[in-house]
Amino acid sequence: MNTPAPTSATGFADLHLHTLFSDGTFTPEELAQRGQLCELSAMALTDHDTVEGCARMAAACALLGIEFIPGAELTAEYRDNEVHLLGYFLDTAHPGLLAEIKKFQNVRQDRVREMAAKLNELNIPLRAEAVFELANCRSPGRPHVARAMVQEGLCESLEEAFERYLKKGRPAWVPKYKISALDAMELIHEAGGLAVLAHPGLNRNDDVIPELARLGLDGLECFHTRHSSEASERYLRMAARLKLAVTGGSDCHGFSKHKPLIGSVKLPAIYLEKLKELRDQATRRDEGESYVEG
Ligand code: AMP
Ligand code: FE
Ligand code: FE
Ligand code: ZN
Repeated sequence: MNTPAPTSATGFADLHLHTLFSDGTFTPEELAQRGQLCELSAMALTDHDTVEGCARMAAACALLGIEFIPGAELTAEYRDNEVHLLGYFLDTAHPGLLAEIKKFQNVRQDRVREMAAKLNELNIPLRAEAVFELANCRSPGRPHVARAMVQEGLCESLEEAFERYLKKGRPAWVPKYKISALDAMELIHEAGGLAVLAHPGLNRNDDVIPELARLGLDGLECFHTRHSSEASERYLRMAARLKLAVTGGSDCHGFSKHKPLIGSVKLPAIYLEKLKELRDQATRRDEGESYVEG
C-alpha cells in the first residue's frame, strides 16, 4: 500500500478530504468522527472549488481534539492539462478567494443545467432541479448528476451514468470551468495559503511539475490512495529535487464512489510540520515585503 512508514514524529494526517459541500457524502461532523476512528491527529478539508465546509469542520475537529487545516481543491489547467491545486491554510474569509469561488459555483450550476439539457435531448427526462435538490450544495458536479439519474430510475448505477453519458467524450459530457494554474496558485497565496499539486499520478504528465514548481508551486501530493508505492517513491524523489513540500491524503468522498477511503493514506505528522514551517516562512516573507513597501 502507499502509506508511508511512520517516523519518530507522532500522529498522522489526512490532507485530502471531501464533504457534501462538494461531491463527498459525509457532513463535516461525520468526517471528523471518521477521522477520530482512524486515529488521525490532523485533517484538512479540500472540497472542490469551495471552502464552505471549513467552519463546521473546524468546530467538529476542535471538539474531538483534531488539528484542522482549512483548504480547497481548485480545478485548474496548465497547458491543456487539467490539474487540481490543493490550497492549504487558506483564509476562508478572503474576499478574492470568495469571489472566485462564487464564479466557480455559478458555472458549476450552469454546467448541471447543460448536462440535463443534453440528457433531455437523448430523451432522458432528468430535471436540473432534481440534481440541485439532491446535491443541496453550491458546487454540484457530475457525481450529483449521476446520483440523481440513479435516484430517478434513469440509470442502474453511478458507473453506468458515467460510462454511458457523463465521461469525457460521452453525449452528456460538458467541459468544466478551470482557472489557469498560475491564477490558482496566486489566489491561494493571496489568501495566505500554500499551493500543492493534487494526485500527480492521475495526471499522466509529470513534465508539468518542474514548470509549476518554477511558477510558485509549494508542494506535491506524493501519497494518494491511487498512487502505487512506486509512484509515491517517484514523487518523493521529485519533491526533494524540486524543493517541494510533501503532502498526502486519501481523497475520501464518503460513500460516493468507493467505500470511505479515509484512513487509507496516513501522512506522518513530520510532513505536516514541514508544511507549517513553509507556511510560516511565506508569512514572514509577505510581512517583510509589506513592511518594505510601507
Ligand atoms: P466533476 O468535478 O463534476 O467533473 O466530477 C468529477 C468527480 O467525478 C470526481 O470526484 C471524480 O472522481 C468523479 N468521477 C469521475 N469519473 C467517475 C466514474 N466513472 N464513476 C464515479 N465517479 C467518477
Ligand atoms: Fe470529487
Ligand atoms: Fe482531484
Ligand atoms: Zn479530491
